[in-house]
Amino acid sequence: MTAKVETTLRSPQAYGLARKVIDAMEAAGVWPTPLNFELWTHALGEPESVLAVEIQRMTAAGQPFTEAVTDGLAAEHLPRGRLTEQIRDAGRVLDRELSSVSSVIAEAHRSQAAYGQTLDQAATNIEAAADGDGLQTIVSGLTTATRQAQHETESLEKKLEVSTQEVVRLRQHLEMVRRDAMTDALTDLANRKAFDEHLAAACKHAETEGGALTLAVLDIDFFKRFNDTWGHQTGDQVLRYVASVLGRTAANPRFAARYGGEEFAIVFPYESVAMVEAALENVRTEIASRSLRRRSTNDELGAVTVSAGFAVRRRGETASAFLERADAALYASKRGGRNRVSCAERLPKAA
Ligand code: GH3
Ligand code: MG
Ligand code: MG
Repeated sequence: MTAKVETTLRSPQAYGLARKVIDAMEAAGVWPTPLNFELWTHALGEPESVLAVEIQRMTAAGQPFTEAVTDGLAAEHLPRGRLTEQIRDAGRVLDRELSSVSSVIAEAHRSQAAYGQTLDQAATNIEAAADGDGLQTIVSGLTTATRQAQHETESLEKKLEVSTQEVVRLRQHLEMVRRDAMTDALTDLANRKAFDEHLAAACKHAETEGGALTLAVLDIDFFKRFNDTWGHQTGDQVLRYVASVLGRTAANPRFAARYGGEEFAIVFPYESVAMVEAALENVRTEIASRSLRRRSTNDELGAVTVSAGFAVRRRGETASAFLERADAALYASKRGGRNRVSCAERLPKAA
């Protein structure tokens, strides 16, 4: 549901939708808080969605949108609310499994202690036993106690195994949630959050371990015009195409991300300026030389181009200063006529 609304919010329909949202909130007597705005935007942007239907129903029934109600709607229907909910669910399952594991352990302690007592008692009885019959009784008592102890151990083992499996499943699920939260849904590249974390870690590593670190930022040229001409859905296809070229170029240990609407970044650890420049030139020429076709109609769209800028990290430089210099190089490429690669280290001093 989100992807569609997110796209609309960056299309020519964006302000129209925003105005409709404000009007609808005013008509429903709802305060235009950021959260309400987000809810209503999703509801009006996707009138078929469960959220939209729920809001329509509540409005028709004259139910008030109190803070608790909107919080509930957000938790259930907004994507980041759902994520928090999933994490909370995972926490609940983990709690349950941990307490089941500790009760299994407590049970194991109890049954071992009971078995120990039986053995102690038997030892005392053996000393006191006078005849063969007495011994016979003690031995048969011990056999029964041993069987029972074995049986209990087996059942405890089974319970532990079930809990272990549940914890493994949970760990896989959490890993998936974490990956989702770090991935851009449209292009499948790392998203802005993943990029920020990766760049911070790479800077820290370069600072402590030494070794070159280079950062490139790329931006599709005249993309607004492309969208206006061919429509947003076709624009989205182009974003996926550009992302696929970057993804191929940036195999590990390189790292590519979509860090804005039509903006991408690549982190290059341990590479020379010449290597980075060659990689970016390859990306640029590959994209510029590919004549694109619209999938649905097979219309010839021509080629898109990208501009790129890159910078080599200076000692002690923060991630944001580093990014700013790579951005300055990108803008030099834009000013210089687009469809080109610029290096921050070679920009004229005045720029
Ligand atoms: P420049 O060469 O200076 O970069 O020009 P530009 O038109 O590419 O740059 P501008 O920043 O003016 O516009 C960026 C456009 O990118 C606006 C928006 O329509 C488009 N865009 C951003 N995110 C998305 C998206 O997710 N999907 C689509 N289809 N278009 C997007
Ligand atoms: Mg841009
Ligand atoms: Mg652009």
